[in-house]
Amino acid sequence: MSVLAADKRFDITVPVAVIGAGACGLIAALAAHDAGADVVVFERDAVPRGSTALSSGFIPAAGTRYQRARGVKDSPALLLKDIQHKSHGQSDAVLADLVANESGPTIEWLADKHGIEFVLVDGFLYPGHSVLRMHAHPRRTGEALMGALLDAVNRAGIDIVTEAHVVDLYSDPDGRVRGFSCLRPDGTREEIGCDALVFACNGYGGNIEMLRRHIPEMAEALYFGHVGNQGDAVRWGEALGGVALDMGAYQGHGSVAAPHNILITWALMMEGGFQINAAGARFSNEHLGYSEQAVAVLAQPGGIAWCIYDSRIHALGGDFEDYRHAEAAGAIRQADDIETLAAIINVPVAVLSETVAAVARYCRGDADPFGRDFIGKPALTPPYYAVRVTGALFHTQGGLAIDKTGRVLSADGTPLPNLFAGGGAARGVSGPAVWGYLSGNGLLTAVTLGRIAGSSAAQLSKT
Ligand SMILES: Cc1cc2nc3c(=O)[nH]c(=O)nc-3n(C[C@H](O)[C@H](O)[C@H](O)COP(=O)(O)OP(=O)(O)OC[C@H]3O[C@@H](n4cnc5c(N)ncnc54)[C@H](O)[C@@H]3O)c2cc1C
Repeated sequence: MSVLAADKRFDITVPVAVIGAGACGLIAALAAHDAGADVVVFERDAVPRGSTALSSGFIPAAGTRYQRARGVKDSPALLLKDIQHKSHGQSDAVLADLVANESGPTIEWLADKHGIEFVLVDGFLYPGHSVLRMHAHPRRTGEALMGALLDAVNRAGIDIVTEAHVVDLYSDPDGRVRGFSCLRPDGTREEIGCDALVFACNGYGGNIEMLRRHIPEMAEALYFGHVGNQGDAVRWGEALGGVALDMGAYQGHGSVAAPHNILITWALMMEGGFQINAAGARFSNEHLGYSEQAVAVLAQPGGIAWCIYDSRIHALGGDFEDYRHAEAAGAIRQADDIETLAAIINVPVAVLSETVAAVARYCRGDADPFGRDFIGKPALTPPYYAVRVTGALFHTQGGLAIDKTGRVLSADGTPLPNLFAGGGAARGVSGPAVWGYLSGNGLLTAVTLGRIAGSSAAQLSKT
């Protein structure tokens, strides 16, 4: 994994090359194609999936026709406010403003120009969002989103070269990328030249050395994202003179069924469920966000918590494919009364009874010592449900600094000649740490910055 001098002949040269075929890369390719450039995507896996296919596929976007049709009043300004409120005002101002403004038009462009179906996700609000604004494929999975994007790329006639692991870049002394080398499964290499290059190869969640350096608290935790995300963009970008920022930021999740390793939707917590530890006691305000809850759960004995809820909330969980899989796998426990539940999950019955009774009082108006607002949600009623969960790392949010056109920047703010980045390869909009992650910031930047980077790379390749 190096950046080498560009003193070589390339097998072929393409105007725009994209490294990585997740949401960011596929959308960058669609945008470059729409802007009139020949574009080729290079992907290390045999079947493009990335973290995008592992995700829930929920994309926040403001001011869309899907929202208007449902009477939801939203605006880029309100999304920007929510992004900055979550990160305590520490999201990069230019990037946050850019993605908030471009989110709605990008969703409508994907629908209108590329035939991708979206629905507005309803039933509950994700932590930190003022209004319903999650847009998803009707199947509400990242797998379905990836399928729809791959179909669109195929319809557009864009080539994706799979099993093409990009291992080295070739550049001029001024940082202009001339091409790169792909390692093929049989050990041979192909040397590809390019006029403009888009990094869409996500972050460093799969690279334990980089995690130890930048996010030590999650280095030994369960990594739930795509293993191919090895931090290549950051390492190459820095070697070319770019700067990586907010490297301590990431999306964690405090609700991955253990030992089943299945995501349990945070909708359970937003609609009145809560988490307890092995002693039967709550330990946090679950509504601060599922991302920072990863750290809170991992701090409990055994790094384990139980999500506690009732049949009303269980029915809501059934809207999610992952939850149905967890139920089929036997992860969801059910009991007719607190005594039986305490026995099944092996927590002290007296403590669990008092925890459930206290939450019922908070629903009636008593103040929760952790500061969560339970008002408006009914107290739990039997039968009760529980699922054992742990905290996990989903993806990293730090990355290469970029300008409004998606171009990678050096530390003094000078753009690199022909290098662009988006999604997990670029700096996100979550500030410097885990608590800054507003639900959906991952796909928000993959989708909007993918479009911007692809379109800008196409313009540059034509000059
Ligand atoms: C379980 C889970 C649930 C999530 N749910 C949501 C959600 O609902 N909403 C949301 O906003 N975010 C969610 N996220 C985060 C979201 O998945 C990511 O932010 C997003 O998918 C990043 O997209 P990307 O295109 O940048 O990266 P990816 O989708 O990971 O694509 C990167 C691609 O680059 C390839 N690659 C890497 N290095 C190389 C190389 N050297 N050469 C060639 N190819 C390479 C990889 O193989 C991969 O296919 C979730 C994440 C997880 C793990």
